[in-house]
Amino acid sequence: MVIVRQSFIGLALRFFSSFWSRWTRPGMAHKSNFHSKGIKLIKKVLGIVAAGALLVATLTGCASSSTSEGGLIGVAMPTQSSTRWISDGNSIKDALTKDGFTVDLQYAEDDIPTQVSQLEAMLTKGAKALIIAAIDGTQLTDVLQKAADAKVPVISYDRLIRDSANVDYYATFDNFKVGVLQATSLLVGMGVYASETSTSADGPNAKGPLNVELFAGSPDDNNATFFFNGAMSVLQPLIDSKVLVVKSGQTEFTKVATLRWDGAVAQKRMDDILVGSYKGGAKVNGVLSPYDGLSRGIMASLEAAGYSNSTAKGLPFVTGQDAEVLSVKSMIAGEQYSTIFKDTRELAAVAVKMAEALLKGETPETNDTTTYNNGVKVVPSYLLTPYIVTTDNYKKVLVDSGYIKEADLG
Ligand code: BGC
Repeated sequence: MVIVRQSFIGLALRFFSSFWSRWTRPGMAHKSNFHSKGIKLIKKVLGIVAAGALLVATLTGCASSSTSEGGLIGVAMPTQSSTRWISDGNSIKDALTKDGFTVDLQYAEDDIPTQVSQLEAMLTKGAKALIIAAIDGTQLTDVLQKAADAKVPVISYDRLIRDSANVDYYATFDNFKVGVLQATSLLVGMGVYASETSTSADGPNAKGPLNVELFAGSPDDNNATFFFNGAMSVLQPLIDSKVLVVKSGQTEFTKVATLRWDGAVAQKRMDDILVGSYKGGAKVNGVLSPYDGLSRGIMASLEAAGYSNSTAKGLPFVTGQDAEVLSVKSMIAGEQYSTIFKDTRELAAVAVKMAEALLKGETPETNDTTTYNNGVKVVPSYLLTPYIVTTDNYKKVLVDSGYIKEADLG
């Protein structure tokens, strides 16, 4: 391209200089045919300039389309209010760009109509595939019909898109296991379990009774139910045997769910529980929280009610998810007890591989074809492994793997 540009400029300069020398030749102005010759020369120069410009434009056009020879891929993420989705979006975009695709990456800040119009715009721009982390997994049916009509494959990213036949593949983690791990770490923290490999009450506080409160995620996110069911598969037997006591009495998913995973909503619910069920001096020993953003809201409520690790009324064991920097810092400060690490770099790589395979007419790799029924069909899935993180292993799992920079943890 550079060579073409230079030779075009050289050509133009040569013509201008020849024009200039004829124009300024002594006596030229007195020749009778000067005017018509001048006009011809100008026309010639302009013609060459125009042809050159066309050539440059054509070649430039070729060059820019060759940087995106794979075409456009639309990536719709729910919100930037949580760092995990920012990492997800960046990892997907980087991988696709490296493979020669152009990426339209959009965040909808948890507003469903915004996400729908972002997806519509991607289709209008000619996206060849869509990778979608839905805000509300049930609200994309119409726009996905448009995708299907345009033969655009759809990858459901992390959260299952429900109520639509037009979801081709699902890239996610073992979401039931996430809940099992959250409950397991809660029990290890409280001393009901001796270790993370325990499957029955074998720790120093195996008999309880210990007060726990339960929180779940957004009811419109399919994952929230999986996390809660996974956690309850571990906790329910201990609630039944009275090792664990839920003083608020709120154990149903519909009662403990937190719309849009909003930390402020969780904080308010914790405030209400403390006022309603812990007035008489009883202490909360543990809180099942499914996401770091909720955990921090819950701890703010507890702190406002006088729980503090510098007093006898120490903070309860609070779980989490996503290994957000703020929560890892909180863990290092001895506040939040645990989080669940899901390597979003791996998830992005799986989703990108799925999209690229579909565009090549190949069948993407899956490892689960039974679990994720979206209400219309079982969506073939690839499940990655989640891990418990506490202060014992955060350096190895998060820092050494490059997921979080040591410097970001202060
Ligand atoms: C994700 C979690 C995340 C939550 C809130 C869920 O769908 O699987 O990793 O904590 O959304 O953003």
